[in-house]
Amino acid sequence: MRYSKLFIPTLKEVPAEAEVISHKLMLRAGMIRKLASGLYTYLPLGLRSIRKVENIVREEMNRAGAQELLMPIVQPAELWEESGRWDKMGKELLRFKDRHDRPMCLGPTHEEVITDLVRKEVRSYRDLPLILYQIQTKFRDERRPRFGLMRGREFIMKDAYSFDVDEDALDESYQKMYDAYCRIFERCGLNFRAVEADTGAIGGSCSHEFMVLADTGEDKIAVCTACNYAANVELAPCKRQNDKIDEKEKELKLIPTPGKKTIEEVSSFLGVSNKELIKTLIIKTDDKVIAALIRGDHELNDVKLTHVLGVDGVELADEETVKKVTGAPVGFAGPIGLDESIEVIADYSTFNMKNFVVGANKQEHHYINCNWERDIPRNRVRFADIRIITEEDTCPKCGSKIEIKRGIEVGHVFKLGTKYSEALGATYLDSNGKERPIIMGCYGIGIGRSVAASIEQNHDENGIIFPVTIAPFEVIISLLNPKDIELKDVAEKIYVNLQEEGIEVLLDDRDVRPGVKFKDADLIGIPLRITIGKRFKDKGLVELYERKSGNMKDISLDDVIYKVRDKIKSLK
Ligand code: ATP
Ligand code: MG
Repeated sequence: MRYSKLFIPTLKEVPAEAEVISHKLMLRAGMIRKLASGLYTYLPLGLRSIRKVENIVREEMNRAGAQELLMPIVQPAELWEESGRWDKMGKELLRFKDRHDRPMCLGPTHEEVITDLVRKEVRSYRDLPLILYQIQTKFRDERRPRFGLMRGREFIMKDAYSFDVDEDALDESYQKMYDAYCRIFERCGLNFRAVEADTGAIGGSCSHEFMVLADTGEDKIAVCTACNYAANVELAPCKRQNDKIDEKEKELKLIPTPGKKTIEEVSSFLGVSNKELIKTLIIKTDDKVIAALIRGDHELNDVKLTHVLGVDGVELADEETVKKVTGAPVGFAGPIGLDESIEVIADYSTFNMKNFVVGANKQEHHYINCNWERDIPRNRVRFADIRIITEEDTCPKCGSKIEIKRGIEVGHVFKLGTKYSEALGATYLDSNGKERPIIMGCYGIGIGRSVAASIEQNHDENGIIFPVTIAPFEVIISLLNPKDIELKDVAEKIYVNLQEEGIEVLLDDRDVRPGVKFKDADLIGIPLRITIGKRFKDKGLVELYERKSGNMKDISLDDVIYKVRDKIKSLK
């Protein structure tokens, strides 16, 4: 490809809305353009990287014995009603009606469609195991689309589904996919970690997320410094700490706390540490309101609370509900005097606290020196693990120190079990002719998100540093003076020869200053650059520059092709 013909609208300035580096660089490097919130056009350069990731995914899926198919994006509502998800999915599911008034949706995922296919086509244990996958556009009407391709509304996903006769066979399919994922992300040059994860709304028994480690990641993971334990903080259990505090109970007092609402405001006003406070969060669930008690320095874990309550989801109650339940505005809720109909769930870490501070259910007031039993009977409360693990906690597996890191979820593998096969009636006949539900797994990879995650990990102040496996081009030839016939001929010759070697090469034949060429080559992150300029005139040499290491070497014309070929091989 010739740079002069390539549609690559690079930018000097980045739109202010781009917050993370991958979003900024993808816009600047002319890889993507926004159409509307969460909707992006992949420009030629961006699409090339996307296709590279797709091909790696395809090769590894095929190698693992999975077979590619392609399902419709538009899905009929009936299937979602059968699985029970039509009502459960919130606004993320974009629903509409066709001309016959039939309710439909845009597929955010394809468990229903694939299970429908398999229930119609698979009869016997002889047809199993089966792993099917597709690489396709998904639509999720995300609440907060942001960070470019990282969290779009329309995005490309590889989704695979496995079908097996029993749990052991599912374990095998799961392991195959897990191993394929490791190879895929390694080949994409990502620094990643597979972590234990919650099974969420899709349901199922076991799941791992593949997290790319990056400070801008939206997920937090707990990683043990000693053993191999790693889990999403949504899931990581907090060990119960049972150290009793040897302190006398002091007198309960109602204290005015004018204008002090947040934990920080209240604790500094009262001159205590936030560990001596218990915050009371009024929470709305499917059909009721509850109170959750958390130590002041801790954070509520929605996922754990959802599981403890056995509900579909939880959210903070709105102001009106808080007022109705506590009789006070937001900021003063507390367990003392709360109506008996409101269930109170307290985190284990509050169990042994003494002389703590709580909201008084009265505007601008808190209680100090509150104590269990005397002021709040412990049997009024359900104690459970409902907080997010912190670096003060220890590894749930080995007890060593843990670290909390940020990650970008690029892939997710689930053991679904029979959730969908039972709901939709996907069964097979076993060797005794007995009908049994098919055991399923599902496996997703965000293609665009993987490209963005790679840029988060591989960049410098000059731009992107693509790993050669997913770079839009492997080599760029910077022809410094296209008007010089001799130089031009050399560049053309190298260009053709590299192409004949099957190397993806971009020839920068533009009539612009060398500085501009180097800047653009750095910005778009091409791993290798061949410079043809003055040194060729003087000494017959060309320069080979490696974007990542910054190494520059003079090489003779005869050596260029094989040196570049070998270098690319070594980088793959
Ligand atoms: P998240 O927690 O980030 O919302 P998810 O758990 O909803 O993701 P899955 O249903 O597991 O995602 O989807 C499989 C993969 O698709 C994810 O691992 C991620 O890489 C990708 N993905 C999911 N949502 C988006 C999105 N809005 N934009 C881009 N990629 C996405
Ligand atoms: Mg997920």
